[in-house]
Amino acid sequence: MSNTGKLKAFADSIAAATSPFRNYLSDLHRKYLPLSDGTVADYIPELALADPSWFGVAVATVEGQVFEVGDCAQPFTIQSISKAFVYGLALEDHGRDYVNSKVGVEPTGEAFNAIVLDEATNRPYNPMVNAGAIATADLIKGKDGTERLKRMLDMFSRYTGRSHDIHVPVFLSERATGNRNRAIAYLMLNFGMVSDRIDETLDLYFQQCSILVTARDLSLMAATLANGGVNPVTGDRALDQRYVQDVVSVMLTCGMYDSSGDWAYRVGMPAKSGVGGGITAVSPGKLGIGTFSPPLDAKGNSLRGIRVCQQLSQDFGLHPFNVAPPPKDLDSWIKGDADLDRW
Ligand code: GLN
Repeated sequence: MSNTGKLKAFADSIAAATSPFRNYLSDLHRKYLPLSDGTVADYIPELALADPSWFGVAVATVEGQVFEVGDCAQPFTIQSISKAFVYGLALEDHGRDYVNSKVGVEPTGEAFNAIVLDEATNRPYNPMVNAGAIATADLIKGKDGTERLKRMLDMFSRYTGRSHDIHVPVFLSERATGNRNRAIAYLMLNFGMVSDRIDETLDLYFQQCSILVTARDLSLMAATLANGGVNPVTGDRALDQRYVQDVVSVMLTCGMYDSSGDWAYRVGMPAKSGVGGGITAVSPGKLGIGTFSPPLDAKGNSLRGIRVCQQLSQDFGLHPFNVAPPPKDLDSWIKGDADLDRW
């Protein structure tokens, strides 16, 4: 970052610390912390170690202000949230037509790990279910697994402004227990939908799920999409502007597993969740939200994260189809103007 950039980030951090929006987020955090429903993912032992009381809420604006409340620096594995961003990299690597020929954009209404392909085309339905995500990982260019993983990690760094590692024990467990994903991959290989470097691609997929992120990172990743593909803090481009709409669209239709319809109805912001407890949600042109709380509902979505996003959407009118004046005006709350509440 340049010196002017650093100065701006410093000024933004002071403004964020004193903004009424920060107090609003603290209240939200306090309100939902006592929720004790849901269960922490336990399909591998490492995920079951997560503390159910971990709870972080981060919001990053397209102006580059970042608001953080709670456990926003606690690392956890990105899991399925990676799928949306890797889809963007595949689009950059091959263009829309080729990627569309390999992976559809239709919601399935089925669980994320369903063993199902489109009967007419043999394509996986969309890049957010495991089948589509494995087919998408297959498209990531590179001479070997190491180079392909490095390209993924570099991409995530452009979104978050910091470097990323994978959590090796989670990766090894995903690989050791991943026979269902292996079955999906070999079914696609049988239909010629993926290349024959399938074992390398499966490792790459298990590794991409094991990348460590924080709630702050997730807010910046969403804010980068909200900002047309440019990280609003560093100014680095993370995704070609041409593909931002594609990535955000599949997040809206398929990002929240088989409750994507319910989410679109109640929250509306394109989002992606992961079984590590993270959710990233995009309000195009405005902001990105990152939440982290490990207890999940039956569909695999973080319960506190759902509540937080729903409330933010209602209070600030962040549903893209909302035309009524929202109860709270986002700009006034962030800047600290008088008359914060409209009603
Ligand atoms: N690694 C997990 C899997 O492939 C990803 C699950 C998720 O976050 N839904 O099953």
